[in-house]
Amino acid sequence: MSQKFGQHFLVRDTILEPLAAACGEKLTRTIEIGPGRGTLTRHLLPRTAELHAIEIDSALAARLRIQFAAEPKLHVHEADVLDTDLSKWGEAVVTGNLPYYITSPILKKFLALDARFGTAVFLVQWEVAERLVAAPGTRAFGYLSVAAQLVCEVELLRKVPPAAFVPPPKVDSGAVRLRRKKTPPQDLDDLLVFAGRCFTHKRKTLRNNLRPFYGERIAGWPEGGLRAEQLTLAQFVELHTRLKLNQ
Ligand code: SAM
Repeated sequence: MSQKFGQHFLVRDTILEPLAAACGEKLTRTIEIGPGRGTLTRHLLPRTAELHAIEIDSALAARLRIQFAAEPKLHVHEADVLDTDLSKWGEAVVTGNLPYYITSPILKKFLALDARFGTAVFLVQWEVAERLVAAPGTRAFGYLSVAAQLVCEVELLRKVPPAAFVPPPKVDSGAVRLRRKKTPPQDLDDLLVFAGRCFTHKRKTLRNNLRPFYGERIAGWPEGGLRAEQLTLAQFVELHTRLKLNQ
């Protein structure tokens, strides 16, 4: 078992089955990130016409090919998910019990996809799950919450205890579902850069965080004395638009 690859295998059917079901039924195509020993894979296969499983560990990829040799729907790709163009097979649901050391870049990669990739179901560290669903004004609300919630409706499906894995991780995990919004905000890339700037120092006011980028323009505005974590999504969008109009 490789600690390097964040390998904690989910072994409880009572968690695997609802996780697969949360992806949907009669799916055209599914992408599984880090299939490991194929426990989730087994629950996904009856629900999808095509399954692309991306596994970095060559021993596990070889094992999966043998284990599922009689399953023509499954395509095992021995590759690093971060180097893989997830859009190359076309429309798909994206899922996985994610390797926790690269959760953020995987989430970023999913959020950057387009409308053909409407749903993702991920198992992530509990703390990340909390941040993904956090409401403005709460301790967990930060850049990740804003980035995810600008693009998707995010649902917390359930908490998963360490005992559900072999070997058990040190922390609880959380299953989350992300559903892409029909109309993401305009200028999304720009808006995300802006949100990143707002959260540069979480405890500082917007006035102080934004001064290096926009000078004193925001100093006299009502939001200037607030911290980024106090803004709603709509306020991020509105403030960004106002700053652009006042350039
Ligand atoms: N899905 C399996 C399960 O639930 O039992 C395994 C989950 S385990 C947390 C993470 C899996 O992702 C491991 O199989 C690991 O080898 C694989 N992995 C780690 N880094 C990866 C990467 N960069 N690209 C693709 N797979 C990766």
